Amino acid sequence: MLRLRFHGRGGQGAKIASRILGTAAFFEGYYAQDFPLYGAERRGAPISAFTRISKEPILERGIIAEPDSVFVLDETLLDDPHAHPLSGLKEHGIVFVNTARSAVELKDTYKISVQVITLDITKISLKMLGKPILSALAGGIAARIVNLGEDSLKKSIEKELSEIITEKEFLLKNKEASQYCFHAIKPIEIKIAKGIHKANPVITVPFETALISSPTIYTTGNTPLRKTGNWRVFKPVWNYDICTKCMVCVVRCPDACISVNEDGYPYTDYDNCKGCMICVEECPVKAIEGMREAHAW
Ligand code: SF4
Ligand code: SF4
Repeated sequence: MLRLRFHGRGGQGAKIASRILGTAAFFEGYYAQDFPLYGAERRGAPISAFTRISKEPILERGIIAEPDSVFVLDETLLDDPHAHPLSGLKEHGIVFVNTARSAVELKDTYKISVQVITLDITKISLKMLGKPILSALAGGIAARIVNLGEDSLKKSIEKELSEIITEKEFLLKNKEASQYCFHAIKPIEIKIAKGIHKANPVITVPFETALISSPTIYTTGNTPLRKTGNWRVFKPVWNYDICTKCMVCVVRCPDACISVNEDGYPYTDYDNCKGCMICVEECPVKAIEGMREAHAW
């Protein structure tokens, strides 16, 4: 059995990528499972998704603690102690990271001993789709890494994305982006460790109210401590030569990150701006631009 884990941020497409992989495996005659795990169900928050692929019926349930391969759709998660995307990775494992950095640099920075593959799929997505939505691209990469065929991937993309994308042209672009990423990765022989067919034991956790099980959610004023600035793909940058000080951006920011400086111009708190780009959309004179960044702060 292959156990695969995806790490991304809400809205990036990690969950759909795990579905694309599972469905492609199913079309190729395997048994497959795929499911997500959310913490805060909020755009930008870290999420995980899991896929199991097997030639035999899968009796194992629950999260995958020891994956054969990990797909990291947002490189800032490598620094996030809560997401911990490399945890439990097997010795023979493969890590894919969406980044402009090289595999050598990542191995060195994060002391990764297993094989690392990198590709800047956000850049490819922006170029081919016009948006940083990575599900089809990550699905293509995952299918390649686990050695599924191109035809199964195509059928899976059609099935999974036609349910959520109504615009034909955008669906076609997703298919093309997926194929592009599939071929951007060289075929790899993923090794499966022997003797791992035993299912993990089921752990029954007693019910506790959120007040007890997640006390930090209830801690007054904890949002600024979360520093959601590391959720960004784009950061808003103001052009005060154009800004008319209308304050539309200030009231539209969903995270109340924008304040006003001594000269009456708006500025954001980059520690907490999550890069939703609502201010960019809403500014009537287009005085705010979205600038891509990989490391927010
Ligand atoms: S991108 Fe703009 S609207 Fe969104 S959180 Fe940042 S400052 Fe607020
Ligand atoms: S919405 Fe645009 S013009 Fe208005 S204050 Fe914000 S940046 Fe300036």
